[in-house]
Amino acid sequence: MVRLSTPALVIGALLLLTATSDATFKLVLFYEKNDGLHQDIVFNYAVSMFNNLHVYEFQAHLEDVTGIGSFQLSQKACALAAQGAVAFFGPQQPALAATVASVAKSLEIPHLVTTRQAPLPPGMHTVNLYPDADMLAIALADVARALEWRSYTVLYEDDEALSRLQGVLQARDPSQLPIMLRKMDPEGDDRPTLKKMKHNAEMRVVLDCSPQRTVELLRQTRELGMMDVYHSFFLTNLDAHTMDLTEFRQTGANITAVRLLDPNENTIRDAITMWDQSELMMRGRRFPLTARSVRTETALMYDAALFYHHALVKLNASNSEQLLSAEPAECRLPLRRYSPGLLLSSYMMGTEKLGTTGTLRVDSHGRRKDFSLQVVELSKEGFNETGKWELGGYYTTRSSQDLDSQITESLQSKLIIVSSRIGGAFLRFKEPRDPTARGNDQFEGYSLDLIAAIARILNMTFEFRLVPDSQYGAFNPKTQKWTGLLGELLERRADLAICDLTITYVREEAVDFTMPFMNLGISILYKKAEKAETNLFSFLEPFSIDVWIYMATAYLGVSLLLFVLARASPYEWEGGGPHERNPTELENNFSLLNSLWFTIGSLMQQGSDVLPKAVSTRMVAGMWWFFTLIMISSYTANLAAFLTVTRMDDSIKNVEDLAKQTKIKYGTYASGSTAAFFRESNNSLYQRMWTVMNQARPSVFTADNKEGVERVKKGKGDYAFFMESTSIEYETRKNCDLVKVGGQLDSKGYGIALPPGSPYRKMINWAILKLQQAGELKVLKNRWWVENVPDGCAGQEVDDSAASDSPDLDLTNVGGVFLVLVFGCIAAFLVAILEFLWNCRKIAVEEKMTPWEAMKKELRFAVDLRADTKPVPKSSDAGSEPEEEEAAPTSADSFMRLQMNYDQYSVNPQRQ
Ligand code: ASP
Repeated sequence: MVRLSTPALVIGALLLLTATSDATFKLVLFYEKNDGLHQDIVFNYAVSMFNNLHVYEFQAHLEDVTGIGSFQLSQKACALAAQGAVAFFGPQQPALAATVASVAKSLEIPHLVTTRQAPLPPGMHTVNLYPDADMLAIALADVARALEWRSYTVLYEDDEALSRLQGVLQARDPSQLPIMLRKMDPEGDDRPTLKKMKHNAEMRVVLDCSPQRTVELLRQTRELGMMDVYHSFFLTNLDAHTMDLTEFRQTGANITAVRLLDPNENTIRDAITMWDQSELMMRGRRFPLTARSVRTETALMYDAALFYHHALVKLNASNSEQLLSAEPAECRLPLRRYSPGLLLSSYMMGTEKLGTTGTLRVDSHGRRKDFSLQVVELSKEGFNETGKWELGGYYTTRSSQDLDSQITESLQSKLIIVSSRIGGAFLRFKEPRDPTARGNDQFEGYSLDLIAAIARILNMTFEFRLVPDSQYGAFNPKTQKWTGLLGELLERRADLAICDLTITYVREEAVDFTMPFMNLGISILYKKAEKAETNLFSFLEPFSIDVWIYMATAYLGVSLLLFVLARASPYEWEGGGPHERNPTELENNFSLLNSLWFTIGSLMQQGSDVLPKAVSTRMVAGMWWFFTLIMISSYTANLAAFLTVTRMDDSIKNVEDLAKQTKIKYGTYASGSTAAFFRESNNSLYQRMWTVMNQARPSVFTADNKEGVERVKKGKGDYAFFMESTSIEYETRKNCDLVKVGGQLDSKGYGIALPPGSPYRKMINWAILKLQQAGELKVLKNRWWVENVPDGCAGQEVDDSAASDSPDLDLTNVGGVFLVLVFGCIAAFLVAILEFLWNCRKIAVEEKMTPWEAMKKELRFAVDLRADTKPVPKSSDAGSEPEEEEAAPTSADSFMRLQMNYDQYSVNPQRQ
């Protein structure tokens, strides 16, 4: 910027000032003596400086308007106009300024003001050098956008702020979140409002109030613990440089301000020196303000005088006559306007001049729309420039390295509190538990290792704390608060939150997330096929015990019935054989044993050599055959199924299969992202499943994933649990009887959550990226998913499908049949020994030899494989005994009898 002039030159000029004459230009300043702005001093100085240029003579008329009413003021203005006032300046109060503006308009006297609020709507002949309210609002909105403020609270002091900030509200992006408007307490105690803001986690605040109120409010904020790295304040007052914010420099809170006046600039510093020296010379006292305490309005009034003078000089160059011959204006009728007034106003609107507040330029309505603001941020050293706003928009002047090093410093200087929860491979208590362990030493798991790795990169210290309610984070509409980890972040009890915390849209609205460190999707956890218990006697399973007992009873009953009916029926009694034409004795084939033999023969589908002849017995036999036909067919059909079935239900291979059936219930963790996925899904299948889950009784929802896993484990394949693939992977490694069914329903990621607007996000993202590129994330995953799985299925391949096991039958399924065969054969062998011994005893009696000899003889015959006939025993009571009176049999008869006796002997030895 160009220096305006040197103080020595101006002071010299001041001493040469002569008394005013008729040709003197009377410049009137309306001001309030005790408003602390000291506009009178700067105005006086400016006028004396103009005089020093020796073009015209100027007279400064200072009019104190403290406590004056509008009517009085308008009369005063008229009187001053009549006395030759050619320009009005001020006052600051909007209502009074409007009064002066109205007189100025009717008399066409140039009027310059420096009020934040425009005194009158555009179109009047008043120039306001204070930045135009609408444009200032746009500038504030631009800066807020650049700071990435999507939602914030506006704390305002007076209702005029609302109309002032209307522009900020209108300039907002419609996609942005709503903003909150809160009025400050007129009594000055804003604690109740601040408490509400704390409860609602409103962490970004636009403060629209006077410098004094700003400092007081910031103090109250600090009292309530809201002055930390997560809270940001944006001061709309352009006098931030005049506030003493030293006490807030170390809080870490982000305090941003905008200013028109840069107290470090030489322009304003030189001007203050001149004002000071002039005051010293003219009144023998010091100018009471410094570059750090001079208000924008003070500098603006000086600029206003400069601006007017600049236009006057321009007009003089083209039309000095009109200027010099102008008569004083007159309010009384007939009204007389200040003749060069209009022209002078139009010159002001077309010119520009460098002032202490930048280039002075106004539009055709006298509004200052083209200005530049400095954006500053409070740091340990004081306010530092971070950016600039100009008509084109905001641009940053701070290098990203500066910003990063500032954040890194803040990260390293504090203990980072990490909120987490116990669950799966992410975090668990160290086993065996050490009761003396404190802090991080109590835990182990993926989350701890990941944060430790990040901490190594960023050189930060951290402490893990468990979230009291063990929840991930869901919005509770009743309390209007977030639960779990998100609640911890929003209530500033933690700086980071990590676990299997899914990044979701609604959570992202409430807090910030880092880039995902792990990818996953929802899948189904189910129980593996249960192998049927190996049972040697599984061939008995096709029929229940009852059926087997009924069958045995039926067998005995039918055998007995057959025996009785056969004895009763005359057709079952017949002679000894076809060779006996006139038998003297009749025999019945259906002895008790033969009856049992017949029924068992047909039951086993083998038939027998005895067959019924009578209608009654044939009917019994027919019914029995029908019975056995049905029973054996049923048995055969069932046997195959029973022997090959190994799983409880292998019909579920994907989510569609699960949705199609009603036998297997399915559910999710009640307040997590998995439940939210179904609840908010637009997919008709998932919507249907959500309805089914909601209607299921007892409830299919669980208090956490652990409960869901237990439910699947304990169930008999009647419950499937929707869980995230990473957790399923861990659980299936831990529990060999669990299995993941089907693919993933969606695709998402886990991220580390931070409080909204946390400055650490970028740093942590960078550390995660670094770990990812170095392959560390994979190593960590392997460590906690493969190497450190407690009671894992060591060496077992994790079965990723629910496909059934091989249906082959092995010996364990059919071994019982072999056993029955073996025991049957052994029993038969024992019976054969008994028969043999019994026969030997008979032979020994009949042939008068010792039993031992008889046994040896019989044994010898039995092992002689060449002997295929056997001599008839001398006397035998097995079969029909040859009677003495019977005629000698023919050789054929002898053979037949021999054969029959032998058959009877061998087939039915018990027969009497
Ligand atoms: N990881 C999930 C969450 O962040 C929990 C779940 O629903 O499985 O909510």
